[in-house]
Amino acid sequence: MAPSETCARLTVLTGPSGVGKGTLVSRLRERHPRLWLSVSATTRAPREGEEHGQHYFFHSRERFDALVAEGGLLEWAEFAGNCYGTPRQPVEAQLASGLPVLLEIELEGARQVRRSFPEGFQIFLAPPSFEELEQRIRGRGTDSEEAIQKRLARARQELDAQAEFDAVVVNDDLDVALAELERLMGLV
Ligand code: ADP
Ligand code: 5GP
Repeated sequence: MAPSETCARLTVLTGPSGVGKGTLVSRLRERHPRLWLSVSATTRAPREGEEHGQHYFFHSRERFDALVAEGGLLEWAEFAGNCYGTPRQPVEAQLASGLPVLLEIELEGARQVRRSFPEGFQIFLAPPSFEELEQRIRGRGTDSEEAIQKRLARARQELDAQAEFDAVVVNDDLDVALAELERLMGLV
């Protein structure tokens, strides 16, 4: 079903590490500057060039646990040895103002959001093949071999769950995937 362009809604984008979520989201934001993307909290160390408050809120495990305990996260999950979660207040404020929200999160978080926002729209981004996914993770050059192995193991589980989603977009040709996301999100 095509989304309404006037009704504020929550879109979740999920897909295995290395499939191209970050690349596509930054292209979407260049083309649609008003698109609001939630900035997640994480216990992962910043990668080169990543800034606190822009790419993630980088927290200690203690601070992250405190956020969970005080109900400050809409959802959270462990992924490849680190914790990731969506700060609740900014998302709720955005939706309360009638503005659309985009979450770029992994599978367990998407499942939690599906329970709390059943009216949200959930998109799974899939690679053209598992081999291509591995090449992209390695080609990105940001992860240790141990992290790559964890991410690939998790990728198999995530790929098995794609039928749970409202739509699946294959990121083979970047421009084709971008156009498909724009259509599904009601941006064009
Ligand atoms: P994710 O955010 O899903 O972990 P990234 O956006 O970091 O993935 O992309 C992983 C790597 O794959 C990057 O080096 C990126 O340039 C590359 N990439 C993304 N989309 C494509 C595509 N359609 N074709 C080829 N390479 C791609
Ligand atoms: P990365 O370490 O590559 O930035 O992210 C690893 C994974 O964590 C990706 O699949 C990404 O979508 C996911 N992720 C990022 N932020 C969140 C979040 O707030 N919640 C959940 N559940 N997953 C997240």
